[in-house]
Amino acid sequence: MIQWLKDELNKREKSSLYRRLPSPTMQNLKVIASSNNYLGLAKDERVLHAAREMILKYGTGSTGSRLTTGNFDIHERLEKELAHFKGTEACLLYSSGYLANLGVITALADRDTIIYSDEYNHASIIDACRLSGACIIVYKHNDMIDLERKMREYKNHFKKLIVTDGVFSMDGDLAPLDQLNNLKEKYNALLIVDDAHGTGVIGSCGRGTSEHFSTKPDVIIGTLSKALGSEGGFVCSNKTIIHYLIQKSRPFIFQTSLSPGNIGAALKSLHIIQTEKRHVMLKEKANDMRHFLRTLNYSVPQGMTPIIPILLGEASVALQFQKKLLELGLFIPAIRPPSVPEHTSRLRCTLMFTHSDNEIDWIKQAFQSMAPDA
Ligand SMILES: *Cc1c(COP(=O)(O)O)cnc(C)c1O
Repeated sequence: MIQWLKDELNKREKSSLYRRLPSPTMQNLKVIASSNNYLGLAKDERVLHAAREMILKYGTGSTGSRLTTGNFDIHERLEKELAHFKGTEACLLYSSGYLANLGVITALADRDTIIYSDEYNHASIIDACRLSGACIIVYKHNDMIDLERKMREYKNHFKKLIVTDGVFSMDGDLAPLDQLNNLKEKYNALLIVDDAHGTGVIGSCGRGTSEHFSTKPDVIIGTLSKALGSEGGFVCSNKTIIHYLIQKSRPFIFQTSLSPGNIGAALKSLHIIQTEKRHVMLKEKANDMRHFLRTLNYSVPQGMTPIIPILLGEASVALQFQKKLLELGLFIPAIRPPSVPEHTSRLRCTLMFTHSDNEIDWIKQAFQSMAPDA
């Protein structure tokens, strides 16, 4: 192998930044508190059954792009239901949330565009902004004063976008969509919100961060792969933007459309989310866990999502905690740079509706046994 590759790998290994795939036997651990399957729907009998039915009726693959042979009635049905769920005119499916971000931002932004982007935005937003060729202005995390200052300072662009996560994936905090909405109106920009972690979880009916703030961003991006327990991405917006994406969005145009099994699962999950209030009980579980960890003197920020960051500082410390937890039969991953800023390495614990009381107790006992002042 080329020496510079080996050197780079060795350097990573020494700085506790080397990434390894977790062993598949991890699935047999006592508790996994790291899944995005927040509502437990990825293994719900009804969802499994719905996916199977769709596969039997429509096939395992969808055989082509939406613009060729891959446009089925079930794609349009899911788009209609997602638009209804999010309260928008229209919706467009992508094969993942990552590609939805790529597809929307590269279609809407070009060299004549300025994008204001939160410094903690998800990697797929960062990649999309770079690929678009737009002028990118990064503002401090959730700092509306910094954003407004930058909107005033850099304004000589014809098109303006503000792009943010709805729920930030590493900290579990929310973007202030009400304030962002005011700024986008004041400066005549479009507001794009990636609500991958908010959909199905936040808001009184689980419709997402926009429901929580009672705001209507111009574009809401989402994934089917988290609370909805399926796979795929989507964009909810007005008809003009959706029609524009169908013309211009390369990941939409050149990809095989979403597979029938994924659509069947998502349709069923969407139905369950709207009829059972799973997200309400999940929120209570997460609040209880946050409270418990704080009484043990762990550094845990306040929050209202099932994402609970336990801040530990250095990457090596976070890795040690992860290792000790594994010995106790628990998987809670250490998150290190570059996923998070230097000196903010952490464990990222996420709870699920389907975690039993026993499993919650295991997690609590483990943290108690490793507590800072234990
Ligand atoms: C998970 C995630 C994505 C990617 O979604 P996939 O469907 O897994 O590709 C995009 N944005 C954010 C904020 C995410 O957390």
